[in-house]
Amino acid sequence: MTRTIGGPGASYACLRALRDGHAGSKRFNPWMSIDSALEELTTLEKHAHLLGTVGELLGWDEQVNLAAGGAEQRASQHAALAAVIQAAASNPRIGALLEEIGTSGLDADQEAQVRHARREFERATKLPAEFVREKAIQGSRGYHAWARAKSADDFASFAPILEKNLELARAEAAYLGWGNSPYDAMIDKHDPGLTAAEIERLFTELKRDLVPLVRAITGSPAARRAQAVAARLKGFPIRAQQVFLREVTAKIGFDYTRGRIDVSLHPFCSGTGSDVRMTTRYREDQPLDSLFSSIHETGHGLYEQGLPIAQLGTGLGVNAGMAVHESQSRLWENQVARSRGFWRHFEPRWRKLFPAQTENLSPEELYLAINAVEPTLIRVDADEVTYNLHIILRFELERRLFAGELALKDLPGAWRALSRELIGLEPATDREGVLQDIHWSDGSFGYFPSYCLGNMMAAQLWFKALALRPQLEEEFARGEFGWLLGWLREQVHTQGRKFNAFELVRRVTGEALSPRHLIRYLKERYGPLYLG
Ligand code: ZN
Repeated sequence: MTRTIGGPGASYACLRALRDGHAGSKRFNPWMSIDSALEELTTLEKHAHLLGTVGELLGWDEQVNLAAGGAEQRASQHAALAAVIQAAASNPRIGALLEEIGTSGLDADQEAQVRHARREFERATKLPAEFVREKAIQGSRGYHAWARAKSADDFASFAPILEKNLELARAEAAYLGWGNSPYDAMIDKHDPGLTAAEIERLFTELKRDLVPLVRAITGSPAARRAQAVAARLKGFPIRAQQVFLREVTAKIGFDYTRGRIDVSLHPFCSGTGSDVRMTTRYREDQPLDSLFSSIHETGHGLYEQGLPIAQLGTGLGVNAGMAVHESQSRLWENQVARSRGFWRHFEPRWRKLFPAQTENLSPEELYLAINAVEPTLIRVDADEVTYNLHIILRFELERRLFAGELALKDLPGAWRALSRELIGLEPATDREGVLQDIHWSDGSFGYFPSYCLGNMMAAQLWFKALALRPQLEEEFARGEFGWLLGWLREQVHTQGRKFNAFELVRRVTGEALSPRHLIRYLKERYGPLYLG
């Protein structure tokens, strides 16, 4: 459940890099007004954004369509595009415009645009072209090497790739001026302004309440009943699953005239504006997995479709970072789609599409299956209660790797030990352990924490929405999702990148991001089912 994945051409910062191929030869004009400088800067940013979206399409195609034999060629395509973007993103013309515009006398929107442009320009000028090219090739090769290693359950063959990725990450941090805190540099890439220390503080607080809650839920007799009911859901034809999920995702607001959904090994969402690409996967014996994965990706898609289209590619028309992105996917997947109100509306249609498969299933059993809790080794299969422990595990390992406290050769063992400690299960193979996720294959360190921060944000936003609109669930029961989407559009989507995740939460909810809302939400939803 990744927002963007794929080769290095699809790397987040690269995609949003500033770009113009021809403006470098223009002379600096001392009489240029701020407005015209901003206008030219906007043109350059939009041009960059368009090239970035081409890179995203290459990444999407790599996951959805590419024949195995095309991997090396695709790596070269990613590298070629990354080089073009890099060369133009470091165009001195952009630096001259930023200098001309300065930092004073700007209104809030202009200030946000310039801050984002300056950040991207600095990234582009501080990273040598050869380094960017090397990272691009390594990223694409890394993905394919990881896929082979995972299928062969062979960590040893992946270890040199991971070592190289860590080395490149440290080098990147040093180029960008974060030599003393390379992990913070990785986090900042996905979530501007956030640090490992702040995340660790939030995760420690969350862990304190979450671990006992998970133990209480999974130890209850209802947990075994929920797992047994969920296991009975078998033989759901894929064609009917497709019909249902298309109806659901369109009903909650995804605009299929500006996006589509296809099939890939791991669900993800890429693209923006009027071309949003979601993917899902179908399993006849796990129909709820396909459905909730799709609703999750729809939450990402709604965010991208809700960005101000006239400003796409500038600081006013790009998303605020991955934690905010995950808050949008999680809110629709969990707070909305696992609610009783949501199912009061959709259950009759679901039963009509799957009459034989659901005839012996009571509404209460369905609700229990939707909210089944069962510790699993695999993050992407985890329920929303235990999911956060998977993230805390990965954050802890990344933090130790970057701090030099953990050697790569000890990583699989450290994974097993933490998995046992936090989740209560120990993987018998690396395929179910350290090799399970795609992220490290292309050097996407610092991405994992966004998922858990997104869960915290989603709960905090949800309670704010409920405070403003207590009848939300009754509206869901009538198939009405417009108020919630409209509120998210206004409060989050149309804000672009004016605020980082922490600032946005404070602005919308009136208080700092805190795990207590997530704990409250989990207790309110799962307490009545499991803790009687
Ligand atoms: Zn996601």
